[in-house]
Amino acid sequence: MPTFSPTFHSVDGTELIALMQRLYPICRSITGNGLRQSLQILQELVPLTLHEVPSGTQVFDWTVPKEWNVRDAYVKNAQGKKVIDFQKHNLHLVNYSIPIQQKMPLAELKKHLHSLPEYPEWIPYRTSYYAETWGFCLSHNELEALEEGEYEVYIDSTLADGHLTYGELVLPGELAEEVLISTHCCHPSLCNDNLAGMALATFLARHLGGQPRRYTYRFLFLPGTIGAITWLAQHEAQAARIQHGLVVACVGDPGQMTYKRSRQGGAVIDRAVAHVLAHKGQPHAMIDFSPYGYDERQYCSPGFNLAVGSLTRTPYGRFPQYHTSADNFDLVKPEFLADSLATYLAVIDVLEHNRMVINQKPKCEPQLGKRGLYGSLGGGKSTHDSVMAMLWVLNLADGRHTLLDMAERASIEFDLIRRAADALLATDLLVEEKLG
Ligand code: ZN
Repeated sequence: MPTFSPTFHSVDGTELIALMQRLYPICRSITGNGLRQSLQILQELVPLTLHEVPSGTQVFDWTVPKEWNVRDAYVKNAQGKKVIDFQKHNLHLVNYSIPIQQKMPLAELKKHLHSLPEYPEWIPYRTSYYAETWGFCLSHNELEALEEGEYEVYIDSTLADGHLTYGELVLPGELAEEVLISTHCCHPSLCNDNLAGMALATFLARHLGGQPRRYTYRFLFLPGTIGAITWLAQHEAQAARIQHGLVVACVGDPGQMTYKRSRQGGAVIDRAVAHVLAHKGQPHAMIDFSPYGYDERQYCSPGFNLAVGSLTRTPYGRFPQYHTSADNFDLVKPEFLADSLATYLAVIDVLEHNRMVINQKPKCEPQLGKRGLYGSLGGGKSTHDSVMAMLWVLNLADGRHTLLDMAERASIEFDLIRRAADALLATDLLVEEKLG
């Protein structure tokens, strides 16, 4: 069996922040050069393959949209002063705005302006992927300061046939069965949603790339919704190999970890995450699947019904900074990214080591002492805890319980159950039954 380091890996979040700082200024969208350039930066860290799917490609009930690129955008007042400037913040321009150069009075301009009266200093994030229009976003204070008069609106963008770009990395394991790690990467200059997810998935891939693996790992870096739909439409056979999956997003804020279960609800991934969070000793939340949120919506659509949940900190829409300019480096901190990544690694430890073992001497308890099993586990656990873990493993190793079943039934941390099983497997008492 491959050997992983102990359950909670020590992880440095500053590397994730450094990657996010490189990605932050880029204007990403569901297509276009900003998305492409962002994935190329990830390629410096992990060997991602970039795929290009042509505009107009039919993907189930959807069509891959035209590619959007923007060079410049601003609004000038009557004195020729830029009062809204895309060059100062990507969020100032409604994502997917069509090109325009036109003069108009304030009343007309205001129909295309978006602000947040409840947070008057923040710029909202708005998109218009599937309705051809244009618009600008600005702080409510800036909006209120606009004077009557004629304004010049200028958007130098193109919306033309091109491609939808996504990144994919497959790390082969001993098994053909796969673990899916999926993250969206279409948001411009927003940290928790979604640069934190991009950074976590990248460093998770880098970490797993250097480890022996039982499962095959598939990482997808996709534009939200349309990217996942596109991948699923073009990879139905591969999708059937996904045994466990997690959608990564919102993993850098101070909030507690939150797990949204897969549509199946009681899948191994749902139980593995529940077990890790329960034994982590920190407040956390478990929520049931609902057909809203991130790309678990697509993976858990009834025609796929994959065992894919979503592991976040504060979920989408539940933090005030969500989809605003305040989702920045004041919200996302290295220690929270590190804690999230360590949690993902702990969940993967469970998946990697969850097996079926069979007791070879099931009639009454075997003698542990004569096999030198007392106090043999170490790892700071008391002899009592170690012996209890071995007794549980022997008792439940009847061909009907995996190690995760045993950890749940015994209320013992998976890592200790696993080490108890390893110690017993080294004797004549236990053998492994191959899963899958
Ligand atoms: Zn979002």
